[in-house]
Parts: sequence; C-alpha cells; structure tokens
Amino acid sequence: MNGDESSDRLSPDDAFAVLGNEVRVRILRTLGDAAEPLAFSELYDRLPIDDTSRFNYHLGELRGHFVRKGDSGYALDHPGRRVVEAIRSGAVTDDPDLERTSIDDRCPTCDERLEIRWHDGSVEVFCSRCESRWERSSSRVDTAEGPESGYLGRLPFPPAGIRDREAEEVFRAAHAWTIVELLAVGAGICPRCAATVETELDACSDHEDDGICSNCRSSFAVVLTASCTNCLYHVGSAAALGLLSSPALLGFMLDHDVDPLSPRSVCRLDRFFSGYDETIRSLDPLRVVLTLSLDGDELTLHVDENGDLVDVSS
Ligand SMILES: [Zn+2]
Ligand SMILES: [Zn+2]
Ligand SMILES: [Zn+2]
Repeated sequence: MNGDESSDRLSPDDAFAVLGNEVRVRILRTLGDAAEPLAFSELYDRLPIDDTSRFNYHLGELRGHFVRKGDSGYALDHPGRRVVEAIRSGAVTDDPDLERTSIDDRCPTCDERLEIRWHDGSVEVFCSRCESRWERSSSRVDTAEGPESGYLGRLPFPPAGIRDREAEEVFRAAHAWTIVELLAVGAGICPRCAATVETELDACSDHEDDGICSNCRSSFAVVLTASCTNCLYHVGSAAALGLLSSPALLGFMLDHDVDPLSPRSVCRLDRFFSGYDETIRSLDPLRVVLTLSLDGDELTLHVDENGDLVDVSS
C-alpha cells in the first residue's frame, strides 16, 4: 500500500499490524496534535528520530489508510483520527486511580452521601447505608467479583473523563455520558459503533422486593438489556431508563423541570428512576406497566417484551 492512496481498504489484521510500531504511533499522535497539515520536514522535526530514511519508511506504511498527503502536507485520514481519539480517550491503555471517594451527591433511597470509584472502564456508584441495587457481577462475563455492599450500579466512562475533574464532577459527567448512551440505545443506535441494537425486557416472575432478589440478582423486577448487533456493546438497566428517548417520558420529565442531561438534575433523576412501580401484566407475551411519579403527578407506561412503549396514560 506504500504511496498508493487509492489502494483497497485494509483488513483489520493488516491495519493493526501497521499500528504495531512505536514510530508510527508517534507519527499519528503528532499529526493529531497539529492544527494543520505538516510538511515532511515539519513532521520529521517534531519526532524523536534522527534517521530520515527510517522515518520515511514508517510514514509510507501509514500512508493510504491512516495518513494522507495533500498539497499542504501530511494529515490524518479518518481511520488515523479514530486511532488518535481512542488513544486520547485512554480507553485502550489507561487505568486511572480513583479509589472509593465520598461525594456530595446523595443516595436516592436513603439520602446518605454516595461514594464512587473508577473500576474497569466504569465509574461505580455505592451507598454505604443501602442494600445493593444490582450484583456487581451481573451482566459481566467471566468475573469473579462477589457482591459488594451498597453497589448501586456502574456508569461506563472513558479514563480521559477522570482527568481535570473533581470526584463530584466525574460522577455528574459519567451520569450525563450514560444518559447520552441510553438515548442512543432507545433510538436503536449503538453508542459505540452506530450499528443497530437489539433490546429485550426481562421480568422476574418470582421477585423478592427487599434488596437484591435471589432469582434475578437485581432490585428491579423488570430489566432492559440491549446488545449491539455488530460490536461488543451490551448494557443492562432499569426498564424505564430504556424509554428515555420516548417523547412521553422526556416530556413528563421536562414538564417537571428534570432535564436528563443537566448536572443539577442528577439527584432527582436518580430518585425518579430508582423508585417507580413495576407491575407485570402478562409473562407471555411479556407486558409490564411502569408507573413513574414526579411532584405528585403520575405517568404510566405500558411496555412490551422488546422494551418498546405500547401505551401511555397519565
Ligand atoms: Zn442509600
Ligand atoms: Zn427478581
Ligand atoms: Zn456497536
């Protein structure tokens, strides 16, 4: 592919093989730092390398897929931009240090201060006074994690989101990030790769209301799971959160001054989505009724086995 800008796209194996070199990754990062295309000599001068032919060789390996050469110099092509974005997000390499930290935000159930920590790609949320809402191992494959007291859930969040933020800000940003992802899921779009998402509602037919149910390992009797048809994205959430993108639910929230993306709404939003009523009307086909309330007003959502809204009443 050297120098041939019109060559066919690379296979994933070949593309990642091209990236398996320190100089090439430095070239991509340097072009990502640059505000405009760089001439050969400008790019060379910015790299810790003093062998022009070696530099030229590695640049050639990147050209045609990750890097393109225009009239004004070298710049990242779209795949190169995605690689630099993945590096910058820290998702591939970083393991930031955020031990369990108490924050000002309060538990929606008991009003105790929440605690957060960063673990394995997510901000995990705990209450030191409450029962857990989920088992920590739920929805994870091959993890030996036991239940941890007061575990309220995890908010997927790239390591870059931890930088330059206080713990409270991390929690609120991770919250907003998760809401944005769930809005995409509700619209049938994978938030990681944009492919279609399949959603399914599961109801526990013998649910224990006190703490984590031993049958379904959740405090919610009705849980939504969504899986991307293309990538590894998978999420499990309270059923009502899967309806976030519906105008009925969004309208109800906004009418009561709860903006799902605003940091000031986090506490009310958490309370709203953790304390609603679930009624299983039928198991086959699955039909559930979720009754949510804000300021004394109620919204009743009738949901089918795919997590789709079939009827609304208020
Ligand atoms: Zn609590
Ligand atoms: Zn259950
Ligand atoms: Zn996907």
